[in-house]
Amino acid sequence: KEKTLAMIKPDGVSGNYTTQIKSIILESGFNIVREKMLQLNEETVAHFYAEHSGRSFFPNLMKYMTSGPVYIMVLEKLNAIFDWRNLIGPTDSRKAKVSHQNSIRAICGLDSERNCVHGSDSPQSAAREISFFFGEISGD
Ligand code: ATP
Repeated sequence: KEKTLAMIKPDGVSGNYTTQIKSIILESGFNIVREKMLQLNEETVAHFYAEHSGRSFFPNLMKYMTSGPVYIMVLEKLNAIFDWRNLIGPTDSRKAKVSHQNSIRAICGLDSERNCVHGSDSPQSAAREISFFFGEISGD
């Protein structure tokens, strides 16, 4: 089965959405194979979002992602990467609320920055992000 990295971002954790999001995850057929709460620091965010380091929104992204603890999970199911991206909805939560009303970002996101959850976007990024936060997971 495929694995992906899911993250409940600081606004999702501080808004008390963790329990609801975990229920949706389990109801949608994912297994949660690893999970932990973590306070990200600037070094971790710079590494995790290295591809965005040159973008105009990066300083705001840094502030946002270090503003409080995140809840990180490794999810497992067939097609976990695509299905989790589909379940969280579009990056801009305002769009999610209009055209993807059953998505997680429609429930707890605010805009294109504060969108309450993250999901790996490819097998390469899933492998990189899972080992970044959890090391090598046995069984692979
Ligand atoms: P993630 O990688 O967190 O799952 P994503 O793949 O939907 O999100 P990316 O384009 O990779 O979106 O952007 C990473 C994160 O940077 C977004 O989730 C959001 O928090 C922030 N971000 C993206 N675009 C903007 C923007 N235009 N303004 C402010 N923040 C943004």
